[in-house]
Amino acid sequence: MHECCGVFGVYALNEDVARLTFFALFALQHRGQESAGIATSDGKNLHVYTNMGLVSQVFDEDSLSQLTGHIAIGHNRYSTRGSSRVTNAQPIVVGKGSDSLAIAHNGNIINAEHLHEELSGQGYTFRTSTDTEVIANLVLSSPDKSWVDRIRYAMHRLQGAYSLVIMTNDGLFGVRDPLGVRPLCLGTINNGWVIASETCALNHIGANFLKEIEPGEIVSITENGVDYYQEKSGKRAVCIFEYIYFARPDSVINGRLLYPARLAMGEGLAEEHPVDADLVMGVPDSATAAGIGYSHRSNIPLGEGLLKNRYVGRTFIEPDQRIRDLGVKLKFNPLPEMLDAKRMVVVDDSIVRGTTTPQVVKMLKRAGVKEVHMRICAPPIRYPCFFGVDMATRWELIAAQKTVPEVRDFIGADSLGHLSIDGLIKAVALPRDIFCLACFTGNYPIPVQLEMDKLALETMSAGQQGRSNSSE
Ligand code: SF4
Repeated sequence: MHECCGVFGVYALNEDVARLTFFALFALQHRGQESAGIATSDGKNLHVYTNMGLVSQVFDEDSLSQLTGHIAIGHNRYSTRGSSRVTNAQPIVVGKGSDSLAIAHNGNIINAEHLHEELSGQGYTFRTSTDTEVIANLVLSSPDKSWVDRIRYAMHRLQGAYSLVIMTNDGLFGVRDPLGVRPLCLGTINNGWVIASETCALNHIGANFLKEIEPGEIVSITENGVDYYQEKSGKRAVCIFEYIYFARPDSVINGRLLYPARLAMGEGLAEEHPVDADLVMGVPDSATAAGIGYSHRSNIPLGEGLLKNRYVGRTFIEPDQRIRDLGVKLKFNPLPEMLDAKRMVVVDDSIVRGTTTPQVVKMLKRAGVKEVHMRICAPPIRYPCFFGVDMATRWELIAAQKTVPEVRDFIGADSLGHLSIDGLIKAVALPRDIFCLACFTGNYPIPVQLEMDKLALETMSAGQQGRSNSSE
């Protein structure tokens, strides 16, 4: 499962804004690893540099030195809409002269195709296959004069998830969709302002957290200071997967630090799915905290059974077939001396397609583990995501195809237990009605466009009702 993007923006006089953006993107690297880019403005012209690869691969001193100005935005991308190629890398710049803007986007626009057709009919041309360029041209197409009103105009037409940073020649704007699906926060740095997908990016560049940008809010930063505009925002639909997996555990979303939320998920799993075992392990890194939580609550000792090669997947050198066939071995290395004849609880964040978990179970058993009891922080994922997460189609989701006991058998575990939705909400400790839980329930926060998919899914899963979330 992949999150789609991380975004960052800074408006600061007398700062090297491109360098600040580089280090902020570095802290947001977990949100997207396909391409990276930075755009700056010196008040007259926009400069942009993007390329495929990790932030550290894309930029060097030379490319950063070309990015002059006092405003910058940056982006890490994992493609959800639009293929993975350099022309789709962000920020994207559209328009001409003073009527131009640079934009970086985290999310997914559900009605992008319809808007693309409409804008093409009006003569707007598209250089990329991204929904981000649709947003940019929609802003430009507004008959309004001020940038805030033009952004408002676009917001009234857009459906879906969007946390945006937009830069014009002389302004920086942070925009969050009315559902608030993806996070976005505002901070200060010396005499300037910063906007970031996650608070962890602020900490790493010495910025101070000011507030989370509210769902439906536009933050405008110009030479006159900061202004806030609130658009209508009804139902909220914060992605619960930010808490389970996507965001870094040292980030704060909706006032909740993620690390204790993940600890509590592990504790909840121990309460809902206890088992006799000798050792608990969280699959590194995303389930490490949940593993600690399970150990605390169950009084089963915590141990490390798998060491992770932290740099795997951080290369663009294609592995040959022999290396590819190693699968999960490329990522994890077991510690047989720690594992021999043990009954293990293995805590992981989620099971999506069911391709990795069987390999992990097999690897542990080959290393001498007697029993593997899988405990999963996410309830079974039965429905695809339409809000910017590259999850899978519904036919690829193993929990849409198999009952929990069938999944247990498929992955080769001795038992399998998922945290319930109630247990998950309890762990996050925020009101249930602010969350999107659609990949578990099929209740999408924007139902209109998804009716066909949902109906098909309901028909498909009708025969699977009443299945348990655990399989001992
Ligand atoms: S469907 Fe799932 S992954 Fe997508 S936004 Fe909703 S909770 Fe997040």
